[in-house]
Amino acid sequence: MDRRHVVISGASIAGLSVAHWLRRAGWAVTVLERAPEFRDGGQNVDVRGVAREVLDRMGLFDAVKAQNTTETATVLVRGDGSVRATLPSDGTDGATAELEVLRGDFARVVLDSLPADVTFHHAEQIEHVDDLADSVRVTTRSGRTLDADLLVIAEGVRSTTRDLLFDDVRRDDLGVTMVFGTIPRTDADDDRWRWYNAVRGRQVHLRPDNHGTTRAILAHGRGEDIAGLDRDAVMAHLRDRYDDAGWEARRVLDGFATSDDVYVDQLTQIRMPTWHRGRVCLAGDAAWCVTPMGGGGASLALTSGYVLAASLSDPETRTLDDALAAYESWMRPLVDDVQHLPRGIQYFAYPQSRLGLAIREGLDHVLTSPLFAPLAARLTRVAETDRPLPPIVVDAP
Ligand SMILES: Cc1cc2nc3c(=O)[nH]c(=O)nc-3n(C[C@H](O)[C@H](O)[C@H](O)COP(=O)(O)OP(=O)(O)OC[C@H]3O[C@@H](n4cnc5c(N)ncnc54)[C@H](O)[C@@H]3O)c2cc1C
Repeated sequence: MDRRHVVISGASIAGLSVAHWLRRAGWAVTVLERAPEFRDGGQNVDVRGVAREVLDRMGLFDAVKAQNTTETATVLVRGDGSVRATLPSDGTDGATAELEVLRGDFARVVLDSLPADVTFHHAEQIEHVDDLADSVRVTTRSGRTLDADLLVIAEGVRSTTRDLLFDDVRRDDLGVTMVFGTIPRTDADDDRWRWYNAVRGRQVHLRPDNHGTTRAILAHGRGEDIAGLDRDAVMAHLRDRYDDAGWEARRVLDGFATSDDVYVDQLTQIRMPTWHRGRVCLAGDAAWCVTPMGGGGASLALTSGYVLAASLSDPETRTLDDALAAYESWMRPLVDDVQHLPRGIQYFAYPQSRLGLAIREGLDHVLTSPLFAPLAARLTRVAETDRPLPPIVVDAP
């Protein structure tokens, strides 16, 4: 019998997880990636909840753990750097999780797990899709034509192929801008995630990494969308907004100015009534971007590859449509849980005034007290479920 063939568009966490699991389930796999080569960049992501088990079933738990960023704790600091509160990080899924890893290192581990017969085409982008009765035909910008049984779109939050094929994409702008970047490490940097809040809804974060550098984040609420601006315009905007923010803001601005790894995210949730149509389905941020505010984007992306392959390998499922519906109904509660943000969370996370900041600091004090710490710990739990992962039928190695 001919092997079923999947074309996957996007080679980050979601796309590579789909490639890993469908290849193990016996499919022939072709991956298209818009970037000219494997994308190494990106900052801290974590593996939580059910994704830990998926990683274990991939045989990659130890490999990802070995890439740990070395972070041991998360603290909230004042302008002079002194600690005003410590977020709970005991257990596997605290503010600093057991599996903290840089996005590029994580993606590389999954990439390295793929056998050589998984085909990659870089600098490729889908231009046209014909969803036929018994196959899907993909035509790329370079003129390549691929026939497959299934097309999986894993192109991230700004997916163009999703927008080409699905009408009902809702984008909820959370009004928060986050800029991530790599800056030189100094002797004062330690193994803690240090988090500073300033008035006008500004945050400055410094986190250790395992590459001898420091990972920084500038984040603010109520900002205009700068994700589409060129680098000089982004830097001018940041300088204007953060120059007087205090603590290490100026150091971060100087570091970003020369960093080649700056990633701008205008936090946008993607909500869709369905993630599949015909022989096309979506995975990861392209389907349900939860944003770092919800947390767990990488965990959900990893889990989606497993659940999709399990649904497609289920001998009880008669049609492709049934399998894709099963995939969707397994994933949706996990996504809904993370996308449902507590009311007013933006005001709590990004206070504008001195009074707002003082209230926030008071609440932090209460939330991190021994009495309320269990409640605070719940806030960082994502991708959690009581349901067992669906069984998967894989080919003998
Ligand atoms: C370079 C990079 C840096 C990141 N840095 C951070 C970070 O610092 N902090 C954070 O919280 N999250 C970051 N993310 C996002 C994070 O990886 C995701 O939120 C999460 O892991 C879900 O992954 P995903 O595979 O669904 O989407 P993504 O990780 O966004 O991956 C999408 C992939 O699809 C490719 N792609 C996009 N459009 C097309 C197209 N039309 N055709 C073919 N390929 C396409 C992209 O190049 C990318 O490789 C980053 C993503 C990338 C790609």
